[in-house]
Amino acid sequence: MGLVARTLERVKPSPTMAITNKAREMKASGFDVIGLGAGEPDFDTPDNIKQAAIEAIERGETKYTAVDGIPELKQAISEKFARENGLDYKPSEITVGSGGKQVLYNALLATLDPGDEAIIPAPYWVSYPDIVLLSGAEPVIVDTNLEDGFKITPTQLEKAITPKTKWFIFNSPSNPTGAAYTCDEIKALTEVLLRHERVWVLSDDIYEHLVYDDFKFTTPVQVEPKLKERTLTLNGVSKAYSMTGWRIGYGGGPAPLIKAISTLQSQSTSNPCSISQWAAVEALRGPQDFLKGWVKSFQERRDLVVSMLNQAKGIDCPTPEGAFYVYPSCTGCIGKTTPQGKTIASDEDFATALLQEEGVAVVHGAAFGLSPFFRISYATGIEALEEACRRIQRFCASLS
Ligand code: PLP
Repeated sequence: MGLVARTLERVKPSPTMAITNKAREMKASGFDVIGLGAGEPDFDTPDNIKQAAIEAIERGETKYTAVDGIPELKQAISEKFARENGLDYKPSEITVGSGGKQVLYNALLATLDPGDEAIIPAPYWVSYPDIVLLSGAEPVIVDTNLEDGFKITPTQLEKAITPKTKWFIFNSPSNPTGAAYTCDEIKALTEVLLRHERVWVLSDDIYEHLVYDDFKFTTPVQVEPKLKERTLTLNGVSKAYSMTGWRIGYGGGPAPLIKAISTLQSQSTSNPCSISQWAAVEALRGPQDFLKGWVKSFQERRDLVVSMLNQAKGIDCPTPEGAFYVYPSCTGCIGKTTPQGKTIASDEDFATALLQEEGVAVVHGAAFGLSPFFRISYATGIEALEEACRRIQRFCASLS
């Protein structure tokens, strides 16, 4: 009998780790490496939020709390859903976890049985299929394409649904493509979902505030309220408030699902960090005007990166609506050879050679389930981005 459980054996170690480790090693040995792999904003957490955490410590908010969140935070989340999304979630329909990832993990583990299926459009955030595999269920991957803006079409969704489908996992704006669905695009998907009453919807809205060019964010339950009874609307403070390290995520959903999530959490981590919960209350209730400046800055970076990448030979970079990622195609570089004699047969070869020859760390598309592409996170300073894009242009021009 092996040490590792059979379900864990189905989960592969993160494919993004190899390139991240390689970049770290190169940096440590003195190479000038520009890392464009990070999935977090480069801004600091706003001062009013830090101050709320300091005050919480000084008030003695340092003990266990209710497993799935203090009442004040659930109330603040309920108000946020009403104010920003037009959604009516009562505190009993809200759960708080240690990051959106824990809420997602708990929701899937609490509801999936072996044999169940979860539909995941590719490219996807790597945690979706791996968490489904951990539950013993099957991820059903639906490939999107650049021409459709990396968005699943209603026909594709309809075809993927089977009697075993339990969840449709939806992420807009998306990690890794930055693609965000318009209200009409969501409506067309909800029409399919209305015909399949047993299918639950997990809408991961974590990048909702990071949208550009006056794009209007909407979420499935807002577009089709009839789906509320079988949707988990997932969100968190990590990306909008630059609070990745504080570990607070939350979800709104039907009370029985919220209760199941809480049961699982009560036998694993218990409550999320008490101090972080108070910081999140301030994040959601405090001033929101700083966000405008962040969004403006992200949009400038996106525009720079898209424009410079489209000037690189063999690269095709669509302009995404949101998040802080671009997902360019490197089809035009496949089959070519680097000056050092390495053949680029895949997007992983592309990313490895780009790192070795120009010191730019990106994540290859295969890690997110759709090739040949790569992901760049532009949550980094504009000078570093400009230099990285110049290097990518030089690298692509050097291929023959
Ligand atoms: N959902 C998506 C699409 C993400 O990219 C991430 C983080 O990278 C998360 C959820 C979870 O974030 P957190 O656990 O920090 O709330």
